[in-house]
Amino acid sequence: MKNIEIYMHIPFCVRKCGYCDFLSAPADRDIQEKYIGALEREIQGRAAAYTGASVTTVFIGGGTPSLLGPGHIGRLLDVLRRCFRVLPGAEITMEANPGTLDFDSLSQYHKAGVNRLSLGLQSSWDGELKALGRIHTWRQFLDAYEAAAAAGFSRINVDLMSGLPGQTPASYEVTLRRVAELRPGPEHISAYSLILEEGTAFAARNEAGELQLPDEETERALYGLTGRILQEYGYGRYEISNYAKAGCECRHNVGYWTRENYLGLGIGAASLMDNVRFQNGEDLRAYLEDPLGQRRQEQKLTMAEQMEEFMFLGLRLTAGVGEKKFYDIFHYELEQVYGDVIRKHITRGLLSYQAGTAGRYLRLTERGLDLANYVMADFLEPEFP
Ligand code: SF4
Repeated sequence: MKNIEIYMHIPFCVRKCGYCDFLSAPADRDIQEKYIGALEREIQGRAAAYTGASVTTVFIGGGTPSLLGPGHIGRLLDVLRRCFRVLPGAEITMEANPGTLDFDSLSQYHKAGVNRLSLGLQSSWDGELKALGRIHTWRQFLDAYEAAAAAGFSRINVDLMSGLPGQTPASYEVTLRRVAELRPGPEHISAYSLILEEGTAFAARNEAGELQLPDEETERALYGLTGRILQEYGYGRYEISNYAKAGCECRHNVGYWTRENYLGLGIGAASLMDNVRFQNGEDLRAYLEDPLGQRRQEQKLTMAEQMEEFMFLGLRLTAGVGEKKFYDIFHYELEQVYGDVIRKHITRGLLSYQAGTAGRYLRLTERGLDLANYVMADFLEPEFP
């Protein structure tokens, strides 16, 4: 019987943050209600194709899922459990904005079956939060965090960002330490660099010279701080931007990087199923009318594309990619396909082999992790007999 992961997209936010290019926007209560109804119809309509499958993880992302409230999230999880075989030990994560939580709602989310919370904090400085357009303060985050722990959440991720307007290595270090010193400590911390995405308010302001972003040297210093400080507190880096206490990695995201089957539900949600990639369209009105009729871009991956993805996604993990697994899937030796590229980057100190549970694993070195995009580009368009 096959295992699958499920992602549900909630495309609503209180207001748009200046840097955000996710598929999300403010919407009135009526639209939110209709969206929940459409999502329920999509869950019910898709389920027949996955009757033999076991759901190992569920991730409710957005947007701001916690904007909907526990009634709606509970409803979605109930329908999901009725229509799919969600395993009893499934990891069920919900993203939440600290400005939308209190003890009562958190208790209800927990009761509804959410067992992992991902809190978007970004910074512990109110000035930096304001510059980002976030709706919450550091104090509100602390209250939400404390309430989450009291409501029974033992699995909490905190999202942080570096490279923010006005951020300095000193201010970022304080943020990292404040978060790592929370009690009980979060089991997982994601730390991303701010990227100026086309079409965002930040990109326009940057073009107009109105954004005071850290210079390149400061940015490098910020980047270097994350791993160094978090390591002091017992967090291991297991992916380029993700850190966790031992055994507390996000199972859902690890599945994504190791190319497990996953089904995306809701507007814009992407799926990978038996090496076919497909995605729902992004038009909210069309989705509300016909949630099952929005599947787009169905693409059966060629063997070369599967190999590219295997390397591209797998090398993001610090554990690397297993030679044996590569052979088991593709029936080619890793060296047979990528020998030249691997030798080139081993010579440059960017890749190395390490012994693991099932033979040798190829992984990015510390320096390789910093230059991951450059290394990974060489794994595109593999040639094999
Ligand atoms: S809360 Fe998250 S999804 Fe919503 S606008 Fe801000 S960054 Fe984007």
